[in-house]
Parts: sequence; C-alpha cells; structure tokens
Amino acid sequence: MKGIKLFRVLGIQISINYTWFIVFGLIAWSLASGYFPAHYPGLSPSAHWIMGFLGAFFLFLSVLIHELTHSYIAQREGMEVKEITLFIFGGVSQLTKEPEDSKKELKVALGGPLSSLVLALIFWILFRATVRSPHLILFSGLLGYLAFINLSLAIFNLIPGFPLDGGRVLRALYWRKTGSLKKATQIASEIGKWIGVGIILLGLFWILTGNLIGGFWFVIIGIFLRSAAEWGLQQVLTKRALEGVQVKELMSSGVISVPPSLRIDQLVENFYLAHKHITYPVMEGERIIGIITLKQVKEVPRNQWVEKTVREGMMPIREEIMLDPDGEAVDALQKMIRTGEGRLPVVKDGKVVGMITRRDILNLLEIKTDLGE
Ligand SMILES: [Zn+2]
Repeated sequence: MKGIKLFRVLGIQISINYTWFIVFGLIAWSLASGYFPAHYPGLSPSAHWIMGFLGAFFLFLSVLIHELTHSYIAQREGMEVKEITLFIFGGVSQLTKEPEDSKKELKVALGGPLSSLVLALIFWILFRATVRSPHLILFSGLLGYLAFINLSLAIFNLIPGFPLDGGRVLRALYWRKTGSLKKATQIASEIGKWIGVGIILLGLFWILTGNLIGGFWFVIIGIFLRSAAEWGLQQVLTKRALEGVQVKELMSSGVISVPPSLRIDQLVENFYLAHKHITYPVMEGERIIGIITLKQVKEVPRNQWVEKTVREGMMPIREEIMLDPDGEAVDALQKMIRTGEGRLPVVKDGKVVGMITRRDILNLLEIKTDLGE
C-alpha cells in the first residue's frame, strides 16, 4: 500500500495513506457540525471547528501511539517492523514476518488496545480536572472527546475478527489450541468477515432510521473490516505456500539481455516484438548495469526512438530491482509489489543468472492452492 512518508520513530517509517486526508476532513467536519454542537451548544461555530480540527489531529496521534505500541512490542519480541501506514481508524504495521509463536502474537495484539485504554484514562483524568472551569470548556470538551474516542478505539480493536487486534487474540488462542496458524487464521478471518457484514447492516439500519453520520461511519468501517479480513488471510496463505521456496527454484535461466548501445527502435523491433518479455537486463560485457522496461520505452517520445539508446532510457541497477538466487520467493514477490515491476533480474556477483516474473511465483501459488496444500 502506497502512502506519504511522514517521519521515523524507533527506526520505523511512519506513512499515511492518501485516504487519510479525506478521512481527516470528514472527522473534523462531523465533529464540528455534529458531536461538539450537540454536547457544547453554548459555544460558537468557530469554536466547534477549532475543536473539530484539534479532535481529528489528536485522534490521529492516538492511533499512531496505538500502532507504535504494537510495533515496539513486536521489535522487542524479535520481529522487524519497517513501516506503519496509517489510514481509517487504524494502521497497518508492516511486519516483515508473522510471529513465530502464539505467545508473541498475543503480546503484540494486546499491546495496542492496552495503550488506547491508558490514553483514555489519562484524557479522562484531565477532563475531570478541567470540566468545572467554565473558561476551559473548549479544552475539557476536547479532552472528554479524546477519552471517549480512545476508549472506542480500544473496544473497536478488540472486536474478535481478524485482522483486528481482537481477531489476532482469537487467532493466537486458536493457534495455541490446534497448532496450525493457517487454520487459526482462516477461522479468525471468517469471523472478521461476518462481523464486517454485521457492522454494514447496522450502519444501513441507522441511515434508514435517520442517524446519517453514525450510519455512514459504520458502513465504511464494515466494508474496511471485510476487505481487511480477506486480505489478511490471503497474505498468510501466500507466505505459508511460499515458505522455504527460493528464487532460484522459480527463475528461468537462459536470459535474453540487451547491450546499452542498442537503439530504442531496434530494441522494440528485435526484442519487444520478437521475444514478448516486458523487461530486459542491460549488460555491459559480463555485468548488469540496468534494466529496461516497457514503461521506460514508452516514456521516450516515438520520434526519438531512432536517436536514443537503451543506456539513456534504462533504469540503472540498484538493490531494490534485483534479486538474490538464494533469497525467498515471498520476499521477491514483496519486492515486485513494492517497486511495481513484474519481472526482475536474479543477480549473483554482478552477473545475471536468471529472470523471475510475478507470474512464475503466482503460478506456483495457484498450483499449491489447487492441491490443497
Ligand atoms: Zn491495534
């Protein structure tokens, strides 16, 4: 999932998904026009808007602290966390691998809701301390909302449907009982999907009975939950099926490469139309110096094809666009998803030993799934 990079904490890249801007606006708006006017009718609309924006901003920070707590525990348990992407009502901490045992999973899963509960308590104490002073009403109103929203975050995340924290707790318990992560994930994800449907139906019911804003939020959350449950299961199944499979087992050798001095028009004529691959390694003598993809060819204006060479159009070789033959297939797939490249060179000591496509990996996945492995 692509996001906008914000900053780094604990060595983790914090990013926000593009949807966050829309969601931020919607939250600020629904607070300023719904929640705060209903609870603090004596305040001016501009005060409601200030509270709305601050409320949305501190909600963002609360979600971030929740996610960071998960990541902090995960790191202490020996799992690497590279990035946290924040979006609607939560985030996705991108663990590079699944927890090794159910006990670790349980600790990581419970950390987030616990931090939200602690935040709720802190905001509630501050709310009680300020609620009696009339000139602090703007602050106490905000603090009261933050106590409420953090409590809601804790409760929402404890819903027992995977990939929510509660679903992870359920998965860990079931995993401990059966010893099968796959089976535990399937069940937790199935429950997650049904809870998603339930929340959508509840939201529709509310919309029909006049609670437009509340109902609208429930429908969005329900849809989000349903697809996240599906996606989370898919991820686990992919990782399981590709476990222990190495890049060199799936790559094709007998690589067709191109020299950097080749003109683009010759490249198109003699390679793209003749061999039908979308990416070629560019070789200078024995060494790979770059790759050229169809996307880059299309970036060169057609009337310059007879002047420009592969060297001018190619992507110079770097770590992100090459693979190690002894590397894991699942990491190769992740690299392809991250870079958006469907075909990457497999390189050993600067020499290309093969090429691997997303299709090569997905075919194996399909076969394994069909065989019911
Ligand atoms: Zn969480």
